[in-house]
Amino acid sequence: MKADAAQLNDWLMRIDTFNATPGEGTTRAVYTKEFYRAREYLKKEMQDLGLEIHEDCVGNIYGEYKGRHPECPPVWTGSHIDTVPHGGRYDGMAGVFAALEVIRMMKSDGYQPKRSIFVNAYAGEEMSRFGMCCIGSRAIVGRIHQQDLKDARNMAGESIFDVLSHDGFEPERFNRDFSTKPRVHASLELHIEQNRILQDKDISIGIVTGICAPTNLRCEIHGIQSHAGGTSMEDRRDAFMASAEIALALEHLAKASDSEYITGTVGAMKLEPGAANVIPGQADFSIDIRSISAQDKDDLVEALQRKIDEITRNRGVTYQLEQLNNDTPYICSPHIRELLHESAKELELPVLDMISGAYHDSLMLGDITDAAMIFIPCKDGISHDRKESIDMDDLAKGTDLLAATLRRLSEE
Ligand SMILES: [Zn+2]
Repeated sequence: MKADAAQLNDWLMRIDTFNATPGEGTTRAVYTKEFYRAREYLKKEMQDLGLEIHEDCVGNIYGEYKGRHPECPPVWTGSHIDTVPHGGRYDGMAGVFAALEVIRMMKSDGYQPKRSIFVNAYAGEEMSRFGMCCIGSRAIVGRIHQQDLKDARNMAGESIFDVLSHDGFEPERFNRDFSTKPRVHASLELHIEQNRILQDKDISIGIVTGICAPTNLRCEIHGIQSHAGGTSMEDRRDAFMASAEIALALEHLAKASDSEYITGTVGAMKLEPGAANVIPGQADFSIDIRSISAQDKDDLVEALQRKIDEITRNRGVTYQLEQLNNDTPYICSPHIRELLHESAKELELPVLDMISGAYHDSLMLGDITDAAMIFIPCKDGISHDRKESIDMDDLAKGTDLLAATLRRLSEE
């Protein structure tokens, strides 16, 4: 049978009721009341479909549709149900409920796969609350340890570990839950595109060839704080102006790079003392660089550092540059991509090979298994915003492709 757009829409609208900001976009940060209620809702829907539910101490949910050979490494699908503040209804949720719809279709067809198929909801994919993205999938693949849960804190100073303990999750079980990496045959995630390439080309499905990964840096510029009127232009050691020049250098380097895809962003900046009539003595800002190539990112960081040296020297200020992370981009499994193309051909669905500029749980899962992704269009490429919108028919088509490909993978 084919995916039912009305059923998908019903699930997506229902989970959207667990929202801290109704009428102002969807806000469901990880480990909040709304997040827990959404989890309960999802688990109930999984139970109604006969899935066996497993959980771990960071709040990942695994819904197992038992295969004929449940001893074989399973096939994983799913995505996340947390959102950014005032975000959309589809980023993450589309992939979770597409996966659930696949199970509903398989059951209606009386089909039991050879390998078990797991519908997963990974905890805390969005960076928003604790300054860590992909908490659940990072734990699964071993990129974080118990101590990281204690180190990552929210604005109120509470660590992930504290919050989990308070909410009854037993994070002290971390080492037991994640002592061995799970054996997974393959992982396939459906997600909204978060760009407008599919819409512009009028194609309903993207097959992701690779997922860009971020390199995040923090730059601190030390100048001299002084009077905005009393200090002549020649005498200034302006920390902000140096930062501005560095930001423009980053933009220039990213635009001039011959990388297949690379971005450079300064998204947050703090000035000291931050007054209209004072030349800033200190500036702190973020640098986010993403690419499909680890080498291209490293090259850009190196070139940027040379520019920072030059700019700060010329302006008589000093700097500190700290690298917060340098994640490796992921080239999606060629085998699964081939199966996706074969299935799409069978279903007569036009597809487009494309890069994911944003990261996803699949980037992490690629550490432990063959991973790949299906994209569906989102209106005007808008995401992480209340205006995020999709065409349910696109989601139904994507779900058909997900179903057909999961079927192939689960028979291997
Ligand atoms: Zn997402």
